[in-house]
Amino acid sequence: MGIGVHDVVIMGGGLAGLTLALQLKQSLPQLDILILERRRHPVAAAAHKVGESTVEIAAHYFGQVLGLESYLQERQLKKFGFRFFFSDGREDLDRVTELGASTFLPTPSYQLDRGLFENDLARLVVGRGCGFVDEATVRRFDLSSGGSAAAVQEHRVVYERGGQQHEVRAKWLVDAGGRSALIKRKLGLEEGNEHKVGAVWFRVDERIDIDQWSTDKAWLERADPPNRWLSTNHLVGDGYWAWLIPLASGAHSVGIVADNDIHPIETINSFEKAMDWLRVHQPQLYRDLDAKRDKLLDFAFFKRFSHGCKQVFCGDQRWAITGEAGVFLDPFYSPGSDFIAISNTFVTDLIRLDLEKAPLQMIGRMYDQIYHSLYRNMLPIYVGQYPIFADAQVMPVKVLWDYSFYWGIMCPLFIQNRLTDLPKMAKLQSPLARIEQLNIAVQSFLRAWSGKSDRSHNPPQLLDQAALGWFAEMNRGLTDRLDSAQFDALMAESGRILNELAAEIVTRATARHPDLDGSGVLALLPPDVRPGDRLFPNGLAAGAAGNEVNRMVAHG
Ligand SMILES: Cc1cc2nc3c(=O)[nH]c(=O)nc-3n(C[C@H](O)[C@H](O)[C@H](O)COP(=O)(O)OP(=O)(O)OC[C@H]3O[C@@H](n4cnc5c(N)ncnc54)[C@H](O)[C@@H]3O)c2cc1C
Repeated sequence: MGIGVHDVVIMGGGLAGLTLALQLKQSLPQLDILILERRRHPVAAAAHKVGESTVEIAAHYFGQVLGLESYLQERQLKKFGFRFFFSDGREDLDRVTELGASTFLPTPSYQLDRGLFENDLARLVVGRGCGFVDEATVRRFDLSSGGSAAAVQEHRVVYERGGQQHEVRAKWLVDAGGRSALIKRKLGLEEGNEHKVGAVWFRVDERIDIDQWSTDKAWLERADPPNRWLSTNHLVGDGYWAWLIPLASGAHSVGIVADNDIHPIETINSFEKAMDWLRVHQPQLYRDLDAKRDKLLDFAFFKRFSHGCKQVFCGDQRWAITGEAGVFLDPFYSPGSDFIAISNTFVTDLIRLDLEKAPLQMIGRMYDQIYHSLYRNMLPIYVGQYPIFADAQVMPVKVLWDYSFYWGIMCPLFIQNRLTDLPKMAKLQSPLARIEQLNIAVQSFLRAWSGKSDRSHNPPQLLDQAALGWFAEMNRGLTDRLDSAQFDALMAESGRILNELAAEIVTRATARHPDLDGSGVLALLPPDVRPGDRLFPNGLAAGAAGNEVNRMVAHG
């Protein structure tokens, strides 16, 4: 048994582990990094893992932080945003309410073929000088008790490869082992949450082109370019959504994510059961898939996938957990890779500070708190909200709110590189806590509103996010480079937009349903906030943007 000693050992070479290695090597080229990955490489394209749709934080992380933008454009697919169809039980996708952008919004995001991506990343990290051992299963490990920079103790890891055991030692140990949750289990850090949602998914080795589900020229041309298949398409219904994600290998990923109380996993947890279910709930998708049965590549499911973790970073003991080995929320808005980007960035900064001999105990604790506060902030967007998904009146408003929260608050924190700026984060603590409360109140109000809404479809139309000037501008502004004062101004402006949007939502909904109680939201707003004044200066009915919002919020 030979013993190698490394600066960093990463247990698990999936998306989180490989991108962390790349980020570390870029920031700190002198590091000796070893990645231990259980699977044999290269892995299969397409039918590898879920986590294929990215949003703006992850796209920025992969494209700009890791420098993979041209790779993504050449080897993966540029995503045509999110798209939602209220199509439960319907045979006519071109006659249901559609929510999405008529054209590509400026800030890019991508669809990832995870097999291709992990193969390419593994080659890349090896090319940059990292050790990558495939077919290496971590069997056990002992965490060191830490120690001062001068006399650091080492972690000890035993892995098995080809029937042989090997021991390695490391100053830093990172768990990127996904659901194996190696450190979490060893230290008893498991933490559940109230989100009771399950998922099934599979890949078919052929394109699912929803543009071919219609011959209506006007409908087809409503998207420019007429390539809706490039979107992450959500076919939504009561308590569930089905995803359609195209992959660069030519395959298509299909998933059903459902509230266990409304659609128990036992009703969909085999391909045949899922098909029977789709025949009832999404008949057009069923027909498309029925013709592709011989192209089925895989099938998998989770009864319940959302989880927390009591701690993910420990500065003084020099261990960290990244990716799904730590926390995971819900795939509806694809935040999984975002959280990988965020935790990898904290881990990289902790290791950088360690090399500079900074004391890490306090900083590790603060990074852990910030990471958990982001997880906590996002959870109310999903928990208990699946019953709203079928509501063509309320759901478009919820999506508008959720995006504004994500683009306005979450994205700038990461993209403008402020999460590790502790003085800045300390200043933001109180405004962010208020916005967290506002988000909880708005989500609860949306639930109550949906309880009253008649859920009727708008006339068949595209609720065009690209036509909302301030909304499209929020997306465009994500790539601006901001100095400290500009960042502060942006956060203040995002806070104002969220306030006005919250007031607008309550005003519109209570005008329609006077018995709805919006006081929980209104109590959190500054007294001078007026609904829609600035976002819709000409009133809701005037102008293209006004009309779009009118359609979004006026009917429920
Ligand atoms: C239903 C569903 C849909 C999702 N959709 C999206 C989406 O659209 N977009 C998005 O961003 N995220 C999505 N996610 C989340 C996404 O799947 C995860 O964020 C991501 O795959 C986690 O990557 P990871 O590297 O942490 O884990 P993994 O990719 O699972 O990698 C862990 C690696 O560790 C290895 N390993 C495990 N145990 C050991 C061991 N003992 N020794 C050595 N190696 C080991 C495994 O072989 C594996 O390669 C979704 C999640 C679910 C459940």
